[in-house]
Amino acid sequence: MTETQIETRKKCVGCRELIDVEASICPHCGTRQSQVSRNLIRFAALAGALTTILSLATAGVALLPQALSV
Ligand SMILES: [Zn+2]
Repeated sequence: MTETQIETRKKCVGCRELIDVEASICPHCGTRQSQVSRNLIRFAALAGALTTILSLATAGVALLPQALSV
């Protein structure tokens, strides 16, 4: 069976060796792997969604007086 690059492995931030995604410290060079990046991406996606919702809400509020005055 050939080795496939699925979500079970990631590159070490220090030496670029493929290590287990769950590994917090690289077994090759001992560099601590940051777990922040994944949370940061999730946060960025959430912030983007919030911005979209907020802009839609703002547009809705801006149009509301017009809708009421009719
Ligand atoms: Zn390493």
